Amino acid sequence: MRVVLATRNDHKVDEVSRILRAEGVDVELVALPADAPDVAETESTFAGNALLKARSAAEVTGLPAIADDSGLRVDALHGMPGVLSARWSGRHGDDAANLALLLAQMSEVPDGRRDAQFVCAAGWVVPGVSEHVVEGVLEGSLAHEARGTNGFGYDPIFVPAGYALTTAELRPHEKDSISHRGQALRLLARSFLAQ
Ligand code: IMP
Repeated sequence: MRVVLATRNDHKVDEVSRILRAEGVDVELVALPADAPDVAETESTFAGNALLKARSAAEVTGLPAIADDSGLRVDALHGMPGVLSARWSGRHGDDAANLALLLAQMSEVPDGRRDAQFVCAAGWVVPGVSEHVVEGVLEGSLAHEARGTNGFGYDPIFVPAGYALTTAELRPHEKDSISHRGQALRLLARSFLAQ
């Protein structure tokens, strides 16, 4: 079976293929065609945005589609940046500016009130047949300064519960094994794709 992943990033296709294969799922995963329209992430939830992207990918290609949407929820900020994680500083995808702004906002918040969660929703749409969405959550807390060079986004300040290192200090396969994205995709694979 061919399945489209709602991304134009081949690295993401490789990463998701690896996760699905490890769950025993045998599909040919392809990226979005270059001329596929950009989808505005207008929903207020990760699940809603994941489904928007999966629906669009399924419509454009006629293939079953997977899409993910993710972000960081900070308790002291009442769940923000949330679905605005990628554009928190006002510039979409400016990881350094987003992280600097969040650190500044959290500068007076003491240990014990710095809990946060990485959240990922993964949507699965079979055109004209069905739509499903599942979620993965990684609990943790925010460090006071950035540490580590692996990963992206808020990884340098996110310390998973039970760990002393940030997710930017973990090795990539260690992060994958506990991450919100890994959890959501493994759940999706087991629930809808495994034979
Ligand atoms: P998306 O591409 O719309 O899913 O937005 C994800 C945004 O959330 C990224 O730009 C990051 O700011 C943040 N984010 C999501 N997952 C991670 C992660 O695993 N590490 C660090 N930041 C993440």
